[in-house]
Amino acid sequence: MPRQSIEILSTGNEILEGLYADANAQWLSARLNEMGLPVRFHLSVRDDPDDLREQLAQSLNRSQLVILSGGLGPTRDDLTRQTVLAVYKTSAQRDPRAESMIRERFAKRERELPENNLAQADLPLGCIPLYNHCGTAPGFIMPAGKGRGALICLPGPPFELHAMFEASARSWLEQTFPPTEARRLRVLHVFNRPESDVDQTLHPLYGRDEKIYLGLRAKGGIIDVRITARGATPEEANVRISQCEADVRRLLGPEDVFATDGGAMEEAVVELLKRSGKTIACAESCTAGMIAARLANVSGSSECLYESYITYSNEAKTRILGVRPETLAAHGAVSAQTAAEMARGARKIAAAGIALSVTGIAGPTGGSAEKPVGLTWFGLATDSGVQTVRQNFLGDRQQNRSAAALFALDLARRALLREQ
Ligand code: ATP
Ligand code: MG
Repeated sequence: MPRQSIEILSTGNEILEGLYADANAQWLSARLNEMGLPVRFHLSVRDDPDDLREQLAQSLNRSQLVILSGGLGPTRDDLTRQTVLAVYKTSAQRDPRAESMIRERFAKRERELPENNLAQADLPLGCIPLYNHCGTAPGFIMPAGKGRGALICLPGPPFELHAMFEASARSWLEQTFPPTEARRLRVLHVFNRPESDVDQTLHPLYGRDEKIYLGLRAKGGIIDVRITARGATPEEANVRISQCEADVRRLLGPEDVFATDGGAMEEAVVELLKRSGKTIACAESCTAGMIAARLANVSGSSECLYESYITYSNEAKTRILGVRPETLAAHGAVSAQTAAEMARGARKIAAAGIALSVTGIAGPTGGSAEKPVGLTWFGLATDSGVQTVRQNFLGDRQQNRSAAALFALDLARRALLREQ
């Protein structure tokens, strides 16, 4: 019998040539883990019939479940169906519903139907068809048997794979592999604290409950605190995770967690702006619109995103924002004084509740001993005056610019939070 394990097999030369990362394995693993089905192997295989046959046979031999993505299409490099037929030593049969779905798709697009597209509806005998509502290629499930694990074949394009998994594969998995316990995951996103500091702060929580796992991950100035909770029922896991979340928030303090479960910094800012009925304006030099672009990512931000000025040159800082030439001459464009005048000017011209400004040296050129690459000044103008803050970023040009946009948004978030 196959060992109790699950593997994900992704096909495609492009993955092995480094053209894109294997997003399907990542997405499927997250779903399976949520369902209490941990994944043992991720494998990527070239579009080569021998390689694919060999790997599929090995995987089905040793594992309880194999999920294979890609290669269901009509082209010459799409080898999944024929490889499955070879491994299972079986033949294919045209599935009438899959065929009519393909015909309908082409008719709706008013396109000729090439014969090889219909071949996609030829599915292995004994399979459970998985119909594709977002593309042409149907997927299928080969149930376990004869010393082989079960096999689920899903299309390669991620949105087709997601839709097919949710519409049909998920319920089959839940029935076939009923979970022995429930798992819940919550991620708290923390900004502007070193990972080691977060780790130290959360130390009292580590190992306190064997049904809770706490893990940290740092990326781009953000620390993700991942809380995984297990329980006999989903409710029990939920209670455990909520208690742990409350403890993490208490230890970290009221300001540092800006979002949960993939929420973005800009969403937190827009939410706080809406709640306070305030509007925002931005004066951006080195970020050149990145702050405004991030705010505009949030649907409904037009209620609070007033306007944004890209004032890259000194001349624009003076003409648009009213930064005094004497300030620029005496302190330079990257200075507390200029950042303050930029924020004050933007707030006034836009008649906004708050205004953010950024001026910095993104690099790699333009630094000096006194003002190194990465030096960035921020201004925040509110009812209570103008505040300036300095940061020294250590990344490359793009990293420094992204970090500056994120830092500026966080500055606004903290100010709005304190005013509540
Ligand atoms: P199609 O009918 O579109 O050919 P298919 O099932 O044959 O679907 P592939 O040909 O393997 O799938 O992949 C089609 C496209 O889907 C790839 O070019 C790529 O853009 C995307 N894709 C496939 N597999 C993955 C993966 N593992 N991660 C991310 N993207 C993928
Ligand atoms: Mg293909």
